[in-house]
Amino acid sequence: MKLPVYLDHNATTPCDPRVVEAMLPYFTERFGNAASRTHAFGWQAEEAVENAREQVAALIGAGPREIVFTSGATEAVNLAIKGVFDRYASRGNHIITVKTEHKAVIDTCKHLERSGGEVSWLPVDSEGLIDLSELEAAIRPTTILICVMLANNEIGVIQPVREIGEIARRKGVAFFSDATQAVGKLPVDVQADGIDLLALSAHKIYGPKGAGALYVRRRDPRISLTAQMDGGGHERGMRSGTLNVPGIVGLGKACALCEKEMEADRVRIEPMRDRLEQGLLRLDGAKVNGSRIHRLPATTNMSFAGIDGEALLAALAKDVALSSGSACTSASPEPSYVLKALGLDDELAYASLRIGLGRFTTDEEVGYAIERVSETVQRLQRQPS
Ligand SMILES: *Cc1c(COP(=O)(O)O)cnc(C)c1O
Repeated sequence: MKLPVYLDHNATTPCDPRVVEAMLPYFTERFGNAASRTHAFGWQAEEAVENAREQVAALIGAGPREIVFTSGATEAVNLAIKGVFDRYASRGNHIITVKTEHKAVIDTCKHLERSGGEVSWLPVDSEGLIDLSELEAAIRPTTILICVMLANNEIGVIQPVREIGEIARRKGVAFFSDATQAVGKLPVDVQADGIDLLALSAHKIYGPKGAGALYVRRRDPRISLTAQMDGGGHERGMRSGTLNVPGIVGLGKACALCEKEMEADRVRIEPMRDRLEQGLLRLDGAKVNGSRIHRLPATTNMSFAGIDGEALLAALAKDVALSSGSACTSASPEPSYVLKALGLDDELAYASLRIGLGRFTTDEEVGYAIERVSETVQRLQRQPS
């Protein structure tokens, strides 16, 4: 067993070696620009991109022409929200979202609030779930977008997207879901779930960093977007810029592997997550944050009353790689806004740990993590700060 044990898969995942293998030729002999129409180098690259487009689409029940490649989920989120805001400006300026969204969504919506947009921020209950009647009541004649993530990156809680999709459809409002943590880990189907726009990222599903995609529904109803990046008109004008061919090939391969292996991964990883959680729940003052039913199979978020989470993470860093929340906010000493939205006070929010297992996590690593986290929590609880 190699140390430190990596249990921060919600921040990023290692590339699957099969993904790397698929990407390698596209750095060297197949280096062409997918937009080059005049020679075989370009044709080869374009064929690889179109193959990846089909692999991504297949994983979420979309058509290949509904996939726009981006640099990752943050860009996909920006394109979805700002693209709808600009395109549908004549219809309205109101967006509905949730307090526990990823920073990519929160900061994009805050940006629009400063540019004439109106945003309703839905609360969540102590389980981390939104109230569907509150969502419906928030819809106004000027509402142009409902933006609710599929699975939360800090607590793994899964929102009732199918019901949200139904409400959005009935009210004639577009529905965007940041599915970055859900895609590849649980079945996602944009048709059945009534999703009109969906963001995903390669590096959360054993693909490379710097590649992602936005799904944009083409019919029933057709969604159009104002591009946020102008240039050569790549990606049907929605996202200009030379395509990251190796990254896109890697994203496609990562999606194909998830489609094939998601169920087997879940059946293996979920019991390890449960064992880890059970092991740590034996500690004094330990509790799980968020719904334990509507939750990703490889994630748990736990609080340990009476400890300083930063001290815990620092004490563990050499042995177990963990985080207290999203990677984007863990540099600042602020308590997690997601946990606060669930009703945790600052002290308990500070005393929390996010654990994300992954495809290559072993039973041995889980046993080791239980031991090391338990002894460290107990030591910190004994020595008052
Ligand atoms: C990681 C993550 C993002 C950002 O994805 P990048 O590809 O790193 O930009 C957005 N939303 C959620 C829910 C995430 O987990």
